[in-house]
Amino acid sequence: MVSVYPLANPKGVRLLCELCQSPAFLQCPDCRVTYYCTPEHQLSDRESVHPALCHLLGPLRAPPPALCSDEERRRNTEQTAQLRRHLLQLCLEAAERHLGAGMPSQSLPAAMHSLRFSIALHGLRSSQLVPPYLLLAEASIRLGHLTQAEEYLGQARWTLLKNPDCSLGLLAKLHRNQGLLFSARGNLAEALAHLANDVYYNTCLYGTGNVHASPGCFHMANVFLRQKKAGIAESLYTEITDSWHAQLSRMLRRQLSAAQDQRASGPEDECLDKGLATEAVQILTEISEIRQGAPKREPGKLVRNLHAKAMLHLVLGDAARACELARKALLMAKDLPHQDEAGAIQAFLTMAESKLPICE
Ligand SMILES: [Zn+2]
Ligand SMILES: [Zn+2]
Repeated sequence: MVSVYPLANPKGVRLLCELCQSPAFLQCPDCRVTYYCTPEHQLSDRESVHPALCHLLGPLRAPPPALCSDEERRRNTEQTAQLRRHLLQLCLEAAERHLGAGMPSQSLPAAMHSLRFSIALHGLRSSQLVPPYLLLAEASIRLGHLTQAEEYLGQARWTLLKNPDCSLGLLAKLHRNQGLLFSARGNLAEALAHLANDVYYNTCLYGTGNVHASPGCFHMANVFLRQKKAGIAESLYTEITDSWHAQLSRMLRRQLSAAQDQRASGPEDECLDKGLATEAVQILTEISEIRQGAPKREPGKLVRNLHAKAMLHLVLGDAARACELARKALLMAKDLPHQDEAGAIQAFLTMAESKLPICE
């Protein structure tokens, strides 16, 4: 529920909406330094990221204190920059999280704020602007705002051209978004070429079979499916599921043996990116939905998909959902000709159950 707080607009001060920069008539009742044109824009910002920023925006937007010495001014500038960096990080994470969870409209405001914070921190030509542009582009594509998406991608491409030493990770994401845009416009051949570049750059960065390439592979498979090349699509879906299954099994085995030896888990255990893991849950869910409609049912593949998803939920901190999926997978695995999978799922389930909160 959004509280509407009519704005007492001081004479001569033109207040602008946090989201669309139109004249504002509402004010956030908590921070009182954020303004909106309509209750709809206030609600969008609230659902996206504003609650995480609200208490931090007051100090950022307060009038600058009267400072005498250069040292005081320098310290004040550094503190403001530090606060902006923190806000930028919060916005980038929120935008990614909402996209990963399949909610592009909630991602859009956070992505927009991240662009503004990034410009304030780094200027208009910095390669640091590319991640916000790419998030804005991806959210726009998913919402069907293709012309807008093309503009954001153009900005990202231009910024990358000015910064030829940018990371392969950013290039991969640029190609992924270009692929998604071509796919949305029905140009499937161009879409495949860009998505293949995404997979290529991620493979250069992380090695073959790594889960970082899985979003690119997934979008490629979807294009193949639209081209009626179901065989290629199916083998890619299998590859994606298997790579997640293998990486998560390895990770959890390491965690388990670290716990048994009573030592802290290794640095590799913290490597799994939460945004990527959330996106993977979405991808695996879509793969299982596509398979439900396939003429040939393959229970072995369904079991692996469920098991991988259960492991992802545990990594993301939802032990209850992890147990629920693992029990379902175990039930199906008992009917499979080989019992290896059932043994592995049982071991996982025991581990996940030990992480359930104790009921009173
Ligand atoms: Zn607005
Ligand atoms: Zn606020």
